[in-house]
Amino acid sequence: MAVTLSFDSDHETPALRDGETLPGKLAQGEYGARVGVPRILKLLERFNAPSSFFVPAVSALLHEGEVKSYVDAGHEVALHGWIHERNTQLPPEAERDLAFRAMETLENLAGTRPVGIRTPSWDFSPHTLEITRELGLKYDSSLMADDDCYEIVADGEPTGIVELPPEWIRDDLAYFTMDRFTSLRPYTPPRGVLTIWRDEFDAAYADGGIFQLTMHPHCIGHRSRIAVLTELLDHIASHQGVWFATHAQVVDHVLTEAEK
Ligand SMILES: [Zn+2]
Repeated sequence: MAVTLSFDSDHETPALRDGETLPGKLAQGEYGARVGVPRILKLLERFNAPSSFFVPAVSALLHEGEVKSYVDAGHEVALHGWIHERNTQLPPEAERDLAFRAMETLENLAGTRPVGIRTPSWDFSPHTLEITRELGLKYDSSLMADDDCYEIVADGEPTGIVELPPEWIRDDLAYFTMDRFTSLRPYTPPRGVLTIWRDEFDAAYADGGIFQLTMHPHCIGHRSRIAVLTELLDHIASHQGVWFATHAQVVDHVLTEAEK
């Protein structure tokens, strides 16, 4: 089975997208770059787990050297918008322009061309697929129609684009998000999330399928949550025949199998 860990390095970009420039919200995002990322990289090194980092271009530009630190540690860097834009609220030309600018920025910083995309907030517009094809990408990781990889079909025709499906069930933000001025509060304790994710892994292991996780450095990077991720990885690593891989590596494997 394959274990594909992913981290969306959003940092300050969702706040900046909304025009928020006051220190409070930005500092919460900045925690991801300053504390979360170094903790995560250390943990991944310990488990020898190549992972995928989906990085908004503005995030990559604000934190000089971060993309290179991912690449140098053997991880994948892939697209996650320009500034965590909401694709479904943009005219198609703007979505396309931001996607191409993001690609150029990440390619320059990473030294290799990204092969995958995860739309910010999994907000997949009617134009996203066409833009994904124009960019020459191999895969998307935003759509949720399966547990395992599948080929995206458009108007009844196969597109050649592989979907590596995420789910809100396997997303840290869905459990831990807090907003002071609304009623939004974390409602699941970290160890409750560990139980859900361990059950997801155990069932994927029994199926011989994919276990995919989506996390955010400013969220999972906190002490009580990194503790949970560490326990989960200990549990996973105690199993035989587990392949820790990047999304791109799993997609390449799927494409090779499909050719046979
Ligand atoms: Zn994101």
